[in-house]
Amino acid sequence: KAYQASEQRYDTMKYKRTGKSGVLLPAISLGLWHNFGFVDSVQNAREVLRCAFDLGITHLDLANNYGPPYGSAEENFGTIFKKDFQNHRDELFIASKAGYDMWPGPYGNWGSRKYLISSLDQSLKRMGLDYVDVFYHHRPDPDTPLEETMGALADIVRQGKALYVGISNYQPKETQEAAEILKRLNTPFILHQARYSMFDRWVEDGLLDTLEENGVGCITFSPLAQGMLTNKYLKGIPKDSRAARDLTFLDEATVNSNIDKIQKLATIAEARGQKLSQMAIAWILRQPQVASVLVGASSANQLKENVNALNNLSFTNEELKLIDKIIG
Ligand code: NDP
Repeated sequence: KAYQASEQRYDTMKYKRTGKSGVLLPAISLGLWHNFGFVDSVQNAREVLRCAFDLGITHLDLANNYGPPYGSAEENFGTIFKKDFQNHRDELFIASKAGYDMWPGPYGNWGSRKYLISSLDQSLKRMGLDYVDVFYHHRPDPDTPLEETMGALADIVRQGKALYVGISNYQPKETQEAAEILKRLNTPFILHQARYSMFDRWVEDGLLDTLEENGVGCITFSPLAQGMLTNKYLKGIPKDSRAARDLTFLDEATVNSNIDKIQKLATIAEARGQKLSQMAIAWILRQPQVASVLVGASSANQLKENVNALNNLSFTNEELKLIDKIIG
């Protein structure tokens, strides 16, 4: 059935400015790392994307290697985009990245100019787009001069293939260096994408300050620690969950080793009148440098639940102390 976007799509979403840029991002954005590959149901993927747009989620996060197989999330997205979202292109802020293993041989990985430029060309073809809104270097490359990698990002913007650039998984010192080079190259560097959740607080140790000093926003990934920070694992490991599936990066042992903390956190969430997933998202949004929280969702209902985190974003000092005590 033809998609008719909801008239109310901008009524409830909260939009936050990313760094000192002109760009507003939805406080909650959707990532297509899992659930959008050829191994997944395209019908479900389409439903989740429609649901996202209807909820005011204007920002979608992709990468060359999302799937599996590699490239298939972009290809599926391209197919769905063509059917449902073509008329809404200017309402969408679409990201892609390169930096991890993508194709065989010496030019399909890391951070060379050769890799970044050809990878983005492939991504644009798969998605059927003329440009992406933001293009990231996905992880630092210890062996390629940062000038080369940042120079490639700068030229990608000049070629009109990306409007803005970002980096991901860079440490504070590398981030500072990248920011200085990109500034010199007059390149709009607006986002750093980093893992951040109640189970991984590394960004608090210098990265958020570095970003603030450089006027760059933070967009955080795996806010639910891939599903652990939800109510789903409280009574064991469901068969259809990420932890039970092959080809994912979450295993049962990790879930089991965290279950005690998960239960305690769920009790605090309940006292706040929230699901654990909602508290986990709200907890990240308490940081002013965080422009958006990137969630994954295997169903439209999960996404709706997550967006309802916005109904209660404030924490008492007491609650924050209790959470700190549990997560350390
Ligand atoms: P999350 O921590 O949000 O995990 C998402 C998973 O949690 C879902 O697929 C689902 O798993 C489960 N889940 C989500 N909502 C609920 C809910 N309400 N109730 C129960 N379970 C729920 O994030 P991801 O790890 O998926 O990362 C999000 C995005 O961040 C990625 O898609 C990607 O775009 C980006 N990312 C970037 C990286 C980088 O290096 N730059 C690395 C990793 C991610 P299930 O299948 O079990 O239902």
